[in-house]
Amino acid sequence: MAETLRAVKGMNDVLPEDSGRWQAVEAAFARAMQLAGFREVRTPYVEPTPLFVRTIGEATDVVEKEMYSFVHHDERLTLRPEGTAGAARAYVEHGVHKNEPVTKWWYAGPMFRAERPQRGRYRQFSQIGAEIYGDPGPGCDAEMIHTLVEFLGSLGIQGLEVLVNSIGGPATRARYKDKLVAFLTPKAAELTADSQRRLGTNPLRILDSKSPQDQAALVGAPTIHDAFDEVDIAHFAELKSHLDHLGTPYRVDPKLVRGLDYYTYTLFEIKGAKDKLGAGDTLVGGGRYNGMVQELGGPATPAIGFAAGLERLLIASERATAPATVVDVFVAPLDKAGHGPALTIGRDLRRAGIACEVDTRGGSLKSQLRRANALKARFAVILGDAELKEDMVQLKDLEGHAQERVARGELVSAALAHLGRAR
Ligand code: AMP
Repeated sequence: MAETLRAVKGMNDVLPEDSGRWQAVEAAFARAMQLAGFREVRTPYVEPTPLFVRTIGEATDVVEKEMYSFVHHDERLTLRPEGTAGAARAYVEHGVHKNEPVTKWWYAGPMFRAERPQRGRYRQFSQIGAEIYGDPGPGCDAEMIHTLVEFLGSLGIQGLEVLVNSIGGPATRARYKDKLVAFLTPKAAELTADSQRRLGTNPLRILDSKSPQDQAALVGAPTIHDAFDEVDIAHFAELKSHLDHLGTPYRVDPKLVRGLDYYTYTLFEIKGAKDKLGAGDTLVGGGRYNGMVQELGGPATPAIGFAAGLERLLIASERATAPATVVDVFVAPLDKAGHGPALTIGRDLRRAGIACEVDTRGGSLKSQLRRANALKARFAVILGDAELKEDMVQLKDLEGHAQERVARGELVSAALAHLGRAR
């Protein structure tokens, strides 16, 4: 027997039973973004490896151990682990800043990270996200967070919690790094091995640690706010005041620093549906990254973005729903002579925008109607011997069970009328 091949661990199929919900969330996101003035960008799934090393940062989990990287004809390539770096690369490569002072892009698509798979965490997962280039905030930061909260609310996600923080400008970050290292160095032995290593490479990441041992060592540590200068203070105060104006509830979390190196000023996370997602309840991560465009060879350009995990949004917004209709009309020819006319009926119904399935397998009326019900069809068009001879069909309402004879030439109008659609 042939060896059974399975999908790669952590990479999932989305079967038609579920793909309708994916499409619905993607469409709702596209609509929410369009309403807020964003346009879609599509960038490649594969990028040069140095793009991610330079932007995300060498000493981050993503770059250190999660990227799918390979060498192809001497070129170092990586399956994109996130969307921000590729979008910024495209923004610079196409000189977009020359055409418009502010650019608002959204995207949706698969990302790849070799993480340990669990519920809500996969090796191929989908993100929906957006980026704004050219506006230093904090008004646009607040608007982005607000737009997202409205979108997540529209999906019916319960228990949304918005966490915001600021890590100030690059100088603040450097100042804070020194303060944190000075605080933690005498207590290094109390930290986990991982965090001891991070003390030398990326000390801010220690704040992200979930380990109680690290959290205990951090009690009394200075917060990033202790290193703020006047610009940082004003930017953060304005962000909070705009969020208050918009009526978006939030909580300030001074320990929110997020894993990626490229952030400046505003950072945020949105959690929700804890009952469904458990500990992995972070739905959205985002923040400002004013240095990235320049780092990639473009002009100094402020930018902010976010990404949400589509699988997590789907788990968080799960509701019991009736299975969706696959087709409106099911065309059932009772014998072979009816197959030709059935195909033209199918063609005419589709031309009028009516989704239909033509059963050309052959088989009893009973078995054909069983399939019509499985497809949740509203009507069946039955083509028996007598109907064929008289150029008629039987139009059967599969919900109300009424049945009427209709002339072939009148079928499209009758079906449209019964479905409540205009011609
Ligand atoms: P990040 O790009 O790490 O800031 O992640 C942003 C969002 O993407 C998270 O809040 C999750 O919703 C989602 N996400 C990140 N990594 C994964 C993963 N491995 N599997 C599923 N969703 C993920």
